[in-house]
Amino acid sequence: MDEVKNVIYKLPDQIANQIAAGEVVQRPASVVKELVENAVDAHATLIKVVIKDAGKSLIYVEDNGDGMSFEDARMCFERHATSKLRTADDLFKIVTKGFRGEALASIAAIAQVELITKRAEDELATKVNIEGNETKEHVGCAGNKGTQFSIKHLFYNVPARRYFLKSDSIEWKHIVEEFVRVALVHPEIEMILEHNDEVEMHLPVGSLRQRIVKVMGAKFQDWLVPIDEETHWLKIKGFVVKPEGAKKSRVDQYFFVNNRFIKNSYLHHAVQTIFSPNIPDGYFAGYFIQLELDTSLIDVNIHPTKTEIKFQDERSVYAILHAATRRALGIHNVVPSLDFNQSGNYVTPVHSGTEIKVPSTGATGNYNPFGPTTAKRDVVQEWLQLQAEMHQSIQGVQQAKQQSMNDDLQSELDIRPLQMFKKWIVFEYNDEMWMVDQSRAHQQVLYESSMKKPMNIQSQALLNPWVMELGSKYQSLINEIKPILTTLGFVWEAGDDQLIFTAMPVLRGGQDAQQWLMDVVENWLDEYERVDSAQSLWTWKNVKQESIRNGQFLTLPEMKELVMELLECENPFFNPDHKKIIFKVNSQQLLKAFNL
Ligand code: ADP
Ligand code: MG
Repeated sequence: MDEVKNVIYKLPDQIANQIAAGEVVQRPASVVKELVENAVDAHATLIKVVIKDAGKSLIYVEDNGDGMSFEDARMCFERHATSKLRTADDLFKIVTKGFRGEALASIAAIAQVELITKRAEDELATKVNIEGNETKEHVGCAGNKGTQFSIKHLFYNVPARRYFLKSDSIEWKHIVEEFVRVALVHPEIEMILEHNDEVEMHLPVGSLRQRIVKVMGAKFQDWLVPIDEETHWLKIKGFVVKPEGAKKSRVDQYFFVNNRFIKNSYLHHAVQTIFSPNIPDGYFAGYFIQLELDTSLIDVNIHPTKTEIKFQDERSVYAILHAATRRALGIHNVVPSLDFNQSGNYVTPVHSGTEIKVPSTGATGNYNPFGPTTAKRDVVQEWLQLQAEMHQSIQGVQQAKQQSMNDDLQSELDIRPLQMFKKWIVFEYNDEMWMVDQSRAHQQVLYESSMKKPMNIQSQALLNPWVMELGSKYQSLINEIKPILTTLGFVWEAGDDQLIFTAMPVLRGGQDAQQWLMDVVENWLDEYERVDSAQSLWTWKNVKQESIRNGQFLTLPEMKELVMELLECENPFFNPDHKKIIFKVNSQQLLKAFNL
């Protein structure tokens, strides 16, 4: 046979691990998640996490759990090396957080790792130093029972990944979120989180309620309503947040299945529909709900980071959860006059032979690190695509501008705009149909023009200091943006789970500074990608208040003016949230749509 024709060869381990790492380790927070989960799996009762520079230079996780033997300390970095799974059958009996045995291999492929570990029965601890999957050191040393992982210089050998990491405050926010997702279901474990030499969270052992209040803030003491329901195959426990604690964002929504944090919009709906009549439009129910069911009734193995899972019978879970929420709110008289008899529509799970409905979680069952589906989840890819799109659009508008300037007749933009659904401005321009989101367009115009002016902020001292009760989660986030908030005129001192404000900025348009700050804090996780610049945060929030809304009628001259101003913007196509402002279609595309 002609040897040259063979083109397939097996990827070396280092490359295979790096590819797998792309799935498992997207950012420093992913490392924190994997290491903290390993510590929980190792029966730790104390977990300490120390972070430097939002995890870019150091992630250190220490536990007092089982530890590893001398051989295992090296073995744990091999791909598919796990102590948690032996046979394929075990896949359906998973009670641990990990089981794929790829986290440590992935981390070791893209960082410098040091491990010190000791079991109770061993005399000596073991130290392993590994870098890019190459073992540099494997020796005995002194140490206490338990395990310490130091992950240094994440992505040191994958510059592209390093480059696409966000600012420290954003990476930190992700770390806090991962830490909290474990902390909220393990009140039996003492947990500590430090950042740049400051203790950001110290969560003592306590009840679930105490843990939630400590993490989320003292107000939750009054807001938490227990939810408790048991059928022969599903147990629901935890808390829902009273309607008065509902927020404008989804920050307080936590589902756990067998102690694992999951995302599931279908189940969210089950809870939200009970709340909807009792909370204002645009507000979201808060909850900390734990579902427990036999591991054979779920499939965790559909996504590498395991935040999505498949239920064998998702509809029944929905029905029970729906009823349980209604009951929780009813029993505690949160919502008056509910009819309990209506809520008992429990359905038993499907058994073998019946058709199993596959819920639409958006993930595919057969995870393949080389498949095209994974490309979709690749942050670098997504980012590159977005950049390319933006670039194309910007080029487009520059060309368009050039063209219109060249055209003598077209001294003013000659368009005949039409308002659609009191939301979009539609017009023909350069042989294309353009649709402009009126509200976003105006926000962009205001944003860009205010960013060019110096920031004018007055801070005023408060006669009576204002005390803001905050859980450790928010306190650690707000600490991170302290320099920004200080520039904006907020002055405070930190107390025990509270901040005492002595000065606040005077806001435009009679807005309330306290409300403004609460909004910043509560929406942090959803919104604050621009938080690095005080001016940008300030400006963006203000223009959102001041801009034209959707649903507002615009006259012809108003529309023309808005479109003109938008086209003069540096970036008319995307707002600072990366949301689309303009959508355009050319006549070719329209013809296609009409099959012509
Ligand atoms: P998985 O958790 O899926 O098994 P990992 O790559 O995260 O895979 O870890 C590999 C193995 O290393 C685990 O199965 C466990 O035996 C061991 N291990 C990892 N972290 C710890 C720890 N903190 N304490 C004790 N053993 C650990
Ligand atoms: Mg693991």
